[in-house]
Amino acid sequence: MDDRQFRTAMGRFATGVTVIATEVEGEAHGMTANAFMSVSLDPKLVVISIGEKAKILNKIKESGIFTVNILAADQQEMSMIFAGQIKDRQVEFGRLDNKPVLPGAIAQVACEVSAEHVEGDHTLFIGKVTDIHLEEKEPLIFFNGKYRSLEEQPAVL
Ligand code: FAD
Repeated sequence: MDDRQFRTAMGRFATGVTVIATEVEGEAHGMTANAFMSVSLDPKLVVISIGEKAKILNKIKESGIFTVNILAADQQEMSMIFAGQIKDRQVEFGRLDNKPVLPGAIAQVACEVSAEHVEGDHTLFIGKVTDIHLEEKEPLIFFNGKYRSLEEQPAVL
């Protein structure tokens, strides 16, 4: 099995898109990620997976906090900015529980790091959820390497 086949298989899992954000010395930093899931209801825990080369990795380790911002259908540009595909844009962050959050996200989830595990070339951060803010909008979807929306398609019979 080669890397391409593995990536193709993983890309067949349709996901939402998030921007993970953290802050060190008053400076907010974000990164696009879809490796996110809910882990536990009691206590409320989530997990994210960050690649070893990502600049945000050491920033989360240093700050001990992160937020997960689940993008709305109209935020594809934000996904591209925080994936390094659109350069040199200023993005203003808001605040939730004194942590940086992305305005316009359909869910903002503020977390404190409760554990981290290095697995292969990624680090899994377990986040204890400290606050949540919701907005009622449609989500951005990522499938097979492309952005999609939940707009209904005519049924093919
Ligand atoms: P960085 O330079 O750290 O940041 C990425 C971009 O965000 C840069 O262009 C930077 O200018 C911009 N940026 C950061 N902070 C700000 C700010 N405050 N204001 C304005 N712009 C800012 N990687 C993973 O590790 N885990 C995943 O789960 C994951 N899922 C992904 C899902 C999708 C749909 C996509 C497209 C990418 C995903 N990636 C994931 C890859 C990851 O987003 C890129 O590798 C990453 O953006 C590159 O990180 P970096 O450390 O090199 O870039």
